[in-house]
Amino acid sequence: MSSDLLHYEQAAALVAGYAAELGGTPLATERVELGLAAGRVLAQPLCADRDQPPFPRSSRDGFACRAAEASAHGPLTIAGATRAGEASGGPLPPGAAWEIMTGAPVPEGTDAVVMIEHVETTHDTEGGTQIAVPAPRTLVQGENIVARAAEARAGEELVTAGTRIGPAQIALAAACGYAAVEVFVRPRVAIVTTGDELVAIDSVPAGGQIRNSNAPMLAALAAAAGAEPWVLPTAVDNAGALDVVLAVAMEADLLLLSGGVSAGKFDLVEEALARAGARFHFTGVRLQPGKPVVFGDVPQEGRARILPFFGLPGNPVSSAVTFLLFAAPVIGALTGSRNTAPRFVLARLAADWRGKSGLTRFLPAFCTFKAGLDKAGPEQPPEVTAVPMQGSGDLAAFVRSNCFLVVPEQAGQLDAGTLVRILLPN
Ligand code: AMP
Ligand code: MG
Repeated sequence: MSSDLLHYEQAAALVAGYAAELGGTPLATERVELGLAAGRVLAQPLCADRDQPPFPRSSRDGFACRAAEASAHGPLTIAGATRAGEASGGPLPPGAAWEIMTGAPVPEGTDAVVMIEHVETTHDTEGGTQIAVPAPRTLVQGENIVARAAEARAGEELVTAGTRIGPAQIALAAACGYAAVEVFVRPRVAIVTTGDELVAIDSVPAGGQIRNSNAPMLAALAAAAGAEPWVLPTAVDNAGALDVVLAVAMEADLLLLSGGVSAGKFDLVEEALARAGARFHFTGVRLQPGKPVVFGDVPQEGRARILPFFGLPGNPVSSAVTFLLFAAPVIGALTGSRNTAPRFVLARLAADWRGKSGLTRFLPAFCTFKAGLDKAGPEQPPEVTAVPMQGSGDLAAFVRSNCFLVVPEQAGQLDAGTLVRILLPN
């Protein structure tokens, strides 16, 4: 191992700085229907079009009343009723209560809602109905009423530009009347897989050949990161083939290459990138899997932007790990998202790990994601176990993982029970 390789933390900081700088570049925008906006990044803020709630809203089925009157426990006459969707009734006469449904506006003059489960109902001889709140229960002002504008004021900015749209943002946009939203155009991520041994999914591999699994995997990863994947034809391991496909890939916003970045005789990707005018930010990081990972960019004549690229090692797990650690944050910045760092959480190691120090490891692992909810006693972090595997080409083991266990560079062993970091896959 050459001693000038970056430590993982150095490479991560370099990529984060690069992504932050890219985040300052203006991006093209487009308008999309709200129903198609999940996963896209907002290019506009979302603002409340009116007070939320627009009227004092009952949060319970029950009776709107005056807290002080109801707390005296005497009978209150039912003066009217309002269902959700109806305009506010009232005003409430003295000594009365108003039947109210969840989501309905409470009448003027009321300051609390007593839940239907908490009243006693009586009927008098004239067919009138009274309710009372039996002692010792009392009501406080504001109980079960969401005041007008308690959630948001008309015009208030509720979601900032640069937010990735998820179900909550969709719901809020709908509530505020956004039938369509302005989002950033998704960056086009070129995917170039390399290797003489690769054949298409629908081919029967001959001796020594394997199906190309990285192209669809990287396309899926790029799409999940908010990009538009652009899978280019696979390149065989010769200079001419690489030059041809790289010339096409220059049209992309970011380039992912898989394979051909190790030290082997047919690992020609770096040379081809250099011929295309690449600058290299790093060529190898002290990590496992994924040590040969390459990061750089190609300045392009006639284009405002340079083309960032990542050369990912060909083994599927190495490709996936280096994508998540390094490519995803840069793609995130190109989507216009403000939040692009890889996501780590803590978990407790279920079994001893023994290995060698000197590389930060990202081992496919299975985490229960149960924080001791099923047990009595103190809360426990979720438990994580490394998945046994035959090296970083073992897809059968990879599919049994749901995260990556992080082993720090200096650690040669980790004991069961240790708190460890895990990398979440998206
Ligand atoms: P390389 O990084 O080119 O040295 O490849 C390392 C290992 O990953 C070799 O066993 C390759 O056969 C395998 N590999 C390379 N590219 C792919 C791919 N696109 N799909 C699946 N495996 C691959
Ligand atoms: Mg190869």
